[in-house]
Amino acid sequence: MNSEPGKFPELFGSMVFNEETMKKRLSPSCYKQWKQSVSDGTPLDISTANEIAEAMKQWAVEKGATHYTHWFQPMTGVTAEKHDSFIAPAGKGRIELEFSGKELVRGEPDASSFPSGGLRATFEARGYTAWDPTSFAFIKEKSLCIPTIFCSYSGHALDKKTPLLRSMDAVSKQAVRILRLFGDTTTTRVIAQVGAEQEYFLLDKKLYSQREDLIMTGRTLFGAKPPRGQELEDHYFGAIRPRVAAYMQDLDGELWKLGVLSKTKHNEVAPSQHEMAPIYSDANAACDQNQITMEIMKKVADRHGLVCLLHEKPFAGVNGSGKHDNWSLGTDTGKNLFKPGSTPRQNAQFLLFLTAFIKGVDEYQDMLRATVATPGNDHRLGAQEAPPAVVSIFLGSDLSAVVDSIINDTTMKGAKKRSINIGVDVMPPIPQDNTDRNRTSPMAFTGNKFEFRMPGSSLSISGPNIVLNTMMAHELMLFADELEKADNMDEAVSHLIRRELTAHRRIIFDGNGYDESWIEEAKRRGLSNFSTAVDALPAYIDEKNIRLFTDHAIYTREEVDARYNIHVENYNATIEIEARTMIDMIRKEILPAVSAYGTSLCKGFKKRKSLGLPYKYEEHNARGNCMLSDCLHDACAKLEKDLREVPAQPEEAMRYCHDVIVPDMNECRSYADELETMTARSAWPFPTYSDLLFSEG
Ligand code: ADP
Ligand code: MG
Repeated sequence: MNSEPGKFPELFGSMVFNEETMKKRLSPSCYKQWKQSVSDGTPLDISTANEIAEAMKQWAVEKGATHYTHWFQPMTGVTAEKHDSFIAPAGKGRIELEFSGKELVRGEPDASSFPSGGLRATFEARGYTAWDPTSFAFIKEKSLCIPTIFCSYSGHALDKKTPLLRSMDAVSKQAVRILRLFGDTTTTRVIAQVGAEQEYFLLDKKLYSQREDLIMTGRTLFGAKPPRGQELEDHYFGAIRPRVAAYMQDLDGELWKLGVLSKTKHNEVAPSQHEMAPIYSDANAACDQNQITMEIMKKVADRHGLVCLLHEKPFAGVNGSGKHDNWSLGTDTGKNLFKPGSTPRQNAQFLLFLTAFIKGVDEYQDMLRATVATPGNDHRLGAQEAPPAVVSIFLGSDLSAVVDSIINDTTMKGAKKRSINIGVDVMPPIPQDNTDRNRTSPMAFTGNKFEFRMPGSSLSISGPNIVLNTMMAHELMLFADELEKADNMDEAVSHLIRRELTAHRRIIFDGNGYDESWIEEAKRRGLSNFSTAVDALPAYIDEKNIRLFTDHAIYTREEVDARYNIHVENYNATIEIEARTMIDMIRKEILPAVSAYGTSLCKGFKKRKSLGLPYKYEEHNARGNCMLSDCLHDACAKLEKDLREVPAQPEEAMRYCHDVIVPDMNECRSYADELETMTARSAWPFPTYSDLLFSEG
């Protein structure tokens, strides 16, 4: 990879068939047609599609591509692709390179093995992919990748892109209505903007490959606490070591070629943990790019003899990895709707959007929590390193003071005195610099955007952003309905803001989210606290949430059901795979190793005793070893037995996995970890936490 600094401008986006390239390579009328299709969703006619396909193919072949694929995001949360070569027979044993508009616009992958959550019987296995002309095609591994939506024969969305696009349209439509009320006649579209910060671990590949748990589950299922963890806090923002620096440089180069605006890189809290933050873009591109980023992170690591772990909690007792989802709304004229204004009118508009957000988060807190509910994230949320499982909003002291002054109808410094005739001119001024930091809040206002900190590192950001967009669309719709009828807009806005802030004040919390007392306080406020995925996931099928999605045509009822089913199945599959991996490692690695080691201790003990020599160490360790290996054996047998009894009904299985299998696994682990601390390094069958965490070199 060529990543000399001087080449960056040309390098950036060089593997993306982006707007600039289209402008250069398409006829003006074709380019115009494409633009039209992007702005108002009109389908491309076949001759336009043919011209774009031809230009794309030529461009891709010049860049060394031999294949093309529709690139889509099935409900597994990762991406899928099926490659076809451009080759077509041209008679007389010759070939030509072919790629038609039809192939660009529509595909029919055999979809029977993708999860459908019951949306599609296997006999109608066909799924359709259709080009999303708002996402640019790109080249990866010599294949032209065409970002597509993926749906079933009957038109149900089978992917994570379709509902995201729908939610972006929904929020745009309602936000534009509000802007019109404030006299904005130029904005035609409001864009959900997202920047996803990505945390990850790097491990030495040789060590990784000696651990079945890492290979099978992405996390360690065993491991005693190392003598040194993250106590020294010397890793966070510390100097980046050469091997990691080389990795990061290579990663940046690859991402830049694919048009990903990778901007910031630094070491994170835990040893071997790092972060990459891109510059934000529209939610659809951000979601595509985050998927690409995760894939490239893994691929580049491999070239450096490293493995990139994206699991939320690879190591117990060590900081896990999250993915901060920075979200805001911007107009197509370049204004950020969450940026406080300077005039009372701009302020009123800002406060109206802020109020809609606060109301939305309060009303759909359960749904937001459900979007981040995965078995991996259960190890993070509420564990004093990530936000608690309670959803709340951090506004910072300045903005909270503004909110309180509105609720209490008190005058803020700088505001006009309030009168009976309240109107936007009495809105308090908003401090411009809202850059307070509170790392313990799940949803922090950071000046001109909200940072949703609950998503785990491996999650597709599609889910959380669908809910953020849709709840916002919903609240803005209700506000617009009310305000459009008002005789006095200023008064109506002022009244509405005050009413809704008063009703939803409980969701605002500026204190320490890690504090035990907050959980109590949250309960008093009536906020929900779903501490595990098992408790959180049913929000998907809560009537209120289904209505939200169906009212705004984001999901049909069947589509929501399907997603719920897939999350439940994924939970069960994950726990069962972890349990089976655990049993395998106990039976085939840990017990044989500790048994042999225990036998050698017993022999030493017997011999020393017979010679009349001291034998404290041998006796103590032999006893501990024998006792603990018995306990481990029994615990493992119980886990095996319980695993055979997982109920067939998925929701019952989920409860059972959580209530029975997870505690069984914890029990097994506690004996194994204890055994590790009393076994000679040379006798332990796989690399330990110290080996792994300080391995990146
Ligand atoms: P912080 O220090 O709060 O994490 P950064 O400026 O580093 O702030 O931003 C973090 C992420 O938020 C980056 O991906 C950045 O591009 C993104 N971001 C910045 N402004 C916005 C915005 N208005 N909307 C969405 N994301 C944004
Ligand atoms: Mg951040």
